[in-house]
Parts: sequence; structure tokens; C-alpha cells
Amino acid sequence: MKKIICLFILSLILLTSCSKKEVISSYDKIIERDVLIVGVKTDSKPFGFINPKTGQNEGFDIDIAKSAALEILGNERKIQFVPVNPNTRIEAVTSGEVDMVIATMSITPQREYFVDFSQPYYIAGQSAIVKKDSSINTFADLKHKTTIVVLGSTAEENLRRIIPTAKIIGYTNYKDAFQALKEGKADALSTDNAILTGFILDNKGYRILKNKISREPYAIAIKRDDNNEKLKKTLDMLITRMNRDGSMTDLKKKWHLI
Ligand code: GLU
Repeated sequence: MKKIICLFILSLILLTSCSKKEVISSYDKIIERDVLIVGVKTDSKPFGFINPKTGQNEGFDIDIAKSAALEILGNERKIQFVPVNPNTRIEAVTSGEVDMVIATMSITPQREYFVDFSQPYYIAGQSAIVKKDSSINTFADLKHKTTIVVLGSTAEENLRRIIPTAKIIGYTNYKDAFQALKEGKADALSTDNAILTGFILDNKGYRILKNKISREPYAIAIKRDDNNEKLKKTLDMLITRMNRDGSMTDLKKKWHLI
């Protein structure tokens, strides 16, 4: 009988200590690790790409990530980049592989179901790129043509909804998608104008359609659950300050986005 009472008391103690255990916040997790882990693009110039000369991650999103590391850890070099693409970036956040994704990622109601977003830091719009001598001039001209998209991007979803008769070919990343366009596997490639502009900088012989079919607010995605308020607030305040003190405009100029 004594044994049973002892066991009962022991399990009570264990239960109370477990329930008192505090869930560590997303912010404190980063502080404890002393490194910020960020999911970024490596093929979306000028937002996230690898400088071929240095092998380093560079771009507008990379600079935002460095500002976040400086804000949270006081050092922009305390950062680790993990390559993501439109198909993997949500899972990278929800699984905890990365602390945040800064990767030309638009806020959408479907994505808000899985992750939380900071306030937007850049507004893009969906367009399409075609060969300079193409007969395609508007999205309506894509009706019976073949268009390349990257799977999991808003471009894929928007195109299927707005031009349901367009034939769509999907790739998992922008490097392969642009390569397929170059090889003539399709008539157009559709994604955000800002990414297409980067492509045109390095590849002559292409043009971007003038009309846009969507508004794409880029934001930082973080894990939804446990105590993320402090992290979200810090990121929102950082973006507000960068907008106010002119550093966001400077960054846009640096990457030829204005
Ligand atoms: N901004 C769009 C999106 O979040 C397209 C760019 C991209 O694929 O990263 O899906």
C-alpha cells in the first residue's frame, strides 16, 4: 500500500513539474542558439542568389535577413542560410528546420493557414517573360500557349485560375524553369515581375509583358505555433524602421528594384 501511495505522489510531482515547464519562444530559441537560420532562394536574382565569383548568398532578401540577424543577435554574420524553393519553403518553417523564410514569398490566405507572416517588405506583381520576337503581348495571348511556372508559386495558382486554357509546365526551381524557356520548351514563363527583371539583366533577347495579373506582397514567414509574438513584433518593427529611415529605399536602389 505504501508503495502505491509513493508512486501516486511521485507521478503527481512529475505531472506538476511538466505542466509548469515553459514553452521556449521562437525568439529565445534563436538567442540561445546564437545563430539565425533563414530559408532563402539561391536562383531568384536580385532577391536571393549565389554570387558565382564568391559562392556567397546575395540579394535583397539576403540583406533583409542580415538586418534581422543584426536586430536579434547584434551581429549580421550570425546567420546560416538554407536554400528553399516555392515547394519546400512552408515545410522548412513548419518543421522548424529554419527560424524564418525570406524568399520572395507572398502573403496568401492559404499560406496564412500554415505560417505567420511579418508585415510586407516589398510589393511585386505577376507578369510573364517571352522571347523578344514573340507574338505574345498580353496574358490573353497565353490562352492556347504553353507557359512555364515554378510549382508551388502563386504564379502557378493564378495562371490556372485566370487562364484555365493555358497549357502549363511546372519546374521545381527558377534555374530549371529559365533554362527550359531558353531551350524553347514553352512560349512564356510566368512569375513576379521583380524576379523576371533579374533574369532579363543577365539574358538579352527577352521581354516582360506590360500587364500584371496579381499583387504579390513579400513578407517574412515564421512558425505559427508556440510563442512567436516577440519574433513577429521584432520583424514588424524592423521593417517599419527600415521603411522610415530610408534603408529600405537604399536596399531597393542597391538591387535595382527602383
Ligand atoms: N511571390 C510568389 C510566391 O510567393 C512567386 C515568387 C516565388 O515563387 O517565389 O509564390
